[in-house]
Amino acid sequence: MIAYFPTPHPDELWYSVGARFSDRMQFGTETGTMQALYGSRHAIATVDLPHRLGALVSQLPPGHPCTVDAIIDQYTFLPYYSPFLTTSTYAKVRDWMGASTKASVRVKCGACTNRVRPPKYFRSCPECDRENREKIGETYWRRLFQVPGVEACPIHKVFLEPSDIRLDPLNNLHKYFSAQKAHLGTRVHRINPEDPAHRILLDLARRVDWLFHREHLNPGLDFLHEQYTPALASNGFATRAGSVRMDDLRRHVLGFYGHKLLELLQCSLPDHKGDGWLGHLLRKPNTAVAPLRHLLLLGALEVDLERFFYPTRFEAPSQSEPVPPGPWPCLNPVCEDRGKSSIDQAVVQPPDINGNQHRIIRCRRCGFAYQMREGTKTPTRANHVLDYGPIWKSTLRQQWADSSIALRRMAKTLGVAPKTVKQRAVELGLQFPRKGKRPTTKSGLYVAKPRDMSKSLEEHRRAWVGLRSKMLVAGTTELRSHRPALYAWLYRNDRVWLTENKPGRKEPRGARSHIDWAKRDEELVGQIATIAAHIKNRPGMPRRVTVTAIGRALGKQSLFEAALAKLPLTRCVITSVVESGEDFAVRRVHTAARRLRLTEGAFARWKLVRAAGLHHHLERQPKVRSALDYEVRPFANALILRNGDSVPQRLLRL
Ligand SMILES: [Zn+2]
Ligand SMILES: [Zn+2]
Repeated sequence: MIAYFPTPHPDELWYSVGARFSDRMQFGTETGTMQALYGSRHAIATVDLPHRLGALVSQLPPGHPCTVDAIIDQYTFLPYYSPFLTTSTYAKVRDWMGASTKASVRVKCGACTNRVRPPKYFRSCPECDRENREKIGETYWRRLFQVPGVEACPIHKVFLEPSDIRLDPLNNLHKYFSAQKAHLGTRVHRINPEDPAHRILLDLARRVDWLFHREHLNPGLDFLHEQYTPALASNGFATRAGSVRMDDLRRHVLGFYGHKLLELLQCSLPDHKGDGWLGHLLRKPNTAVAPLRHLLLLGALEVDLERFFYPTRFEAPSQSEPVPPGPWPCLNPVCEDRGKSSIDQAVVQPPDINGNQHRIIRCRRCGFAYQMREGTKTPTRANHVLDYGPIWKSTLRQQWADSSIALRRMAKTLGVAPKTVKQRAVELGLQFPRKGKRPTTKSGLYVAKPRDMSKSLEEHRRAWVGLRSKMLVAGTTELRSHRPALYAWLYRNDRVWLTENKPGRKEPRGARSHIDWAKRDEELVGQIATIAAHIKNRPGMPRRVTVTAIGRALGKQSLFEAALAKLPLTRCVITSVVESGEDFAVRRVHTAARRLRLTEGAFARWKLVRAAGLHHHLERQPKVRSALDYEVRPFANALILRNGDSVPQRLLRL
């Protein structure tokens, strides 16, 4: 378990979260961060599509908001790639990001078979950096800004500036570099709205940002081609039969962007012969083409992304009557006003980046508030709840405490998915695991019924045994590549059995260890913080918190220090609790001062130095010096307070 892990900022690159973690923990070793996060020092830092996320999430402290899905959707590049991947590739990549420990699989997934290279250096928006530092005290790498083709910040309408941290290729695969410690560009270069190239770049950044805000958008390549046909035809670039007038189209795209801009975006097109990437994109429906190139084509055709990807949303209603503006119903199933058109006021929000307006509708009786797109029919179920309100929440609280009510029934009563019930319960700080017919835990959604599980366990095991008997000489890798889904299922659900039933490996040289280090690591890690506190608070002479002292307190001193190499979690926590010589000296100063104040009242600085047992070189350390200054500062009664002045807080603590 990792004792501390940062909460990601909005649109923060997962790499950046790792970097902030690394800054905070300050591991002594080069690969300490990798070991702590992914349980392996061979893990590598990735910018666009990180993997091993399952291993990482399982180590997060309880209650941490990150799940594998949330990380993939909110902090990686997958939502940028996914609209243009085949559905099977998309599923494979998702799976790989969560479960795999192998970086090599990435090549097979098709997401990186494009010719658009990432930017050379990490980039940031100087205005975003300034705002982040003001608002949250630090800045971070934003996901959007590292995408090739994104050259501007859509919020501030300024160009991105390169930092001194190398992105392609990364400087060091086993280390993270944070934005906070990087040299960031600070000069602001504004977008000139008069300049067509500037406008195009700003629009491109907005389109990528739009993709980042879709969840699971992966309609498949057939769908894309179905959508391209009318878009091309309406601009005169395709015949009714669907054949594309490639030459005309190429000239149009060239004219729209210009050679220079296309070159800058690594998407040059040939002047005369050949269709270049346009041909790949439109003629070979099964090849993966860089998302940027799709976006460029759609931009040149002036296609709105929302209309392209969600055509049904724009189908004209059958009797194109105007939609009446309210009153609206309360959609809270546990409100007395549910379904009644009782709400006659709604707050209209400014249009979003796609020009859609939404209304916020809030029930006065129960506080339930939902969002609705302008011009759509009044829904009967809330799709986008902004606030569940006190009545809904107290119903949840009551039912949560009642173990006779099943999670699914509760979800039905409350009108949401079971997963949502759990998420809201986490937010309300309700008890986990929840007692009931089936215990509800925070991780996962359903606790699978053991009966079903054993049945499919058997099936999968039989299939694996069958496969092995068919391929007698095959090793695990070969078996796995033969039936990847089967292997993945067993790996996820039946790992112990799978390990026992894999083709044998060559015995490693030397004696095998019979100690279950992972288990021992987990047992130990929980005790470290308590032990450190004990050492610090023990009466008598202060003792420094060191690895040895912790080992002694555990009664395992001899074993412990040698074994730490195999205890990554424990080592990680220990690094955060051990005291440096200077820290320990500071603590001695405060303890000694407290003692002197009790026995002698006032005291001179040299007395304190002696009582704290400070070596003269320690006395000069800045932290120690300021601790000494603090303890020998003049007393409060030397301070003249006028009537009505309050006594300064720091003096009250004396
Ligand atoms: Zn910005
Ligand atoms: Zn209501």
